[in-house]
Amino acid sequence: MTIWACLCAGDILLRCEGADGSYSLPVGDEPPVALQPWNKVTTFKDLRIDNLKIDGQSQNKSFNQKSLNPEISLSVVRLDRPVVGVEGLVMMGLRASFQVLTPEEYALAGKAAELIYWDQNTRYCGCCGAPTKWMTDISKKCPECGKEWWPSVATAIIVRIKRIRQLDNLQLDNLPMDNCRKGDKSQSSNCKSSNCKISEVLLVRAKNFRTNHYGLVAGFVETGESLEDAVRREVREETGIEIANVRYFDSQAWPYPFGLMVGFTADYAGGEIHLQKEELCAGAWFTRDNLPPIPDKASIARRLIDDWISAAE
Ligand SMILES: [Zn+2]
Repeated sequence: MTIWACLCAGDILLRCEGADGSYSLPVGDEPPVALQPWNKVTTFKDLRIDNLKIDGQSQNKSFNQKSLNPEISLSVVRLDRPVVGVEGLVMMGLRASFQVLTPEEYALAGKAAELIYWDQNTRYCGCCGAPTKWMTDISKKCPECGKEWWPSVATAIIVRIKRIRQLDNLQLDNLPMDNCRKGDKSQSSNCKSSNCKISEVLLVRAKNFRTNHYGLVAGFVETGESLEDAVRREVREETGIEIANVRYFDSQAWPYPFGLMVGFTADYAGGEIHLQKEELCAGAWFTRDNLPPIPDKASIARRLIDDWISAAE
C-alpha cells in the first residue's frame, strides 16, 4: 500500500471525504493524479506509522503498532501545477494541513516537503558546479568530482524563559485574585500575602511574523557551539538578559523549509530587556492573565507556552 505525498509550491494534495470533510493523504497503488514522465517519484519503505487514516477512516486497529510496517510505503512527488477541480482532492498549505491530518500523516507530509526542497536545491554540485545525479532515494552524487550530497537539516533552538517575581504591596493591591496561586486567598479582595509570587514568560515579536502573534526567542545554531550555547547566545543577543537552568524540552521537525527545532526551557537570571532591533519589534514579560496572541498549535513554541500555562506554580 502506498501513501502519496504530492506537493506543489508549498501545498500538499489531500483527499477530502465525507460530509464532515475528513482529510487524509491519498492512498493507492497508482498516483492520485496523472503524472508526467519527468515527475520523479521517490518511495520510502518500512515506515513507522501508528495512526493512519485511509480514505478518511481511522485505521488504528490495523496499523497501531510501534514497529516498522513493511506493508506501507510513502511516495513523494513534485507536481508541475496545483490540482484543481478534481472531486475528492484538494490542495492545502503544508502548515494548514497540521489542523486536519493526524500527527503521523503531517510528519510524512513534512518529510516529503523537505525532500522536494532538497532536490530542487541540489541540482548542481556545490564543489564543482556539475549537474548532480541521484545515487539513492535520498542522496545524489556528482559525476565529475564524486562528491556525495545528502539531505541535511538546519538546526535551530527555541527557548521559553520564565521569571518568578515577588510582588510588592502596591502591585498586590492591583492584582486580580486569580493571579495569585500561592498566596492568601482568604477574605480580602486582593492577595496580601508577603509570599505572593507571580510567574511570567518572556515573549517576543519578530519582524518577520506575518500575523500579530508573539513567540519565543529562537535562532539557528552556529558552527562550533552546543545547543545550550546557542540558547544562551540567542537570548543574550536578542533580549540582553541572562538565563540559568537551560533544560531540554522536546524537538520538532520543522519543514519550513528544512529545519529541526530543538526546544528548551530556562529561568531568568538577570538583566533588563534590550531588544535586538534588527530582528525583533516587541518583547516583554507576560503573566498567564495578559497573554498576547500566541503561535498556533502546529509549533513547538505553542507547546512550550502551553506547558507553562498549565504548570501549577
Ligand atoms: Zn562536483
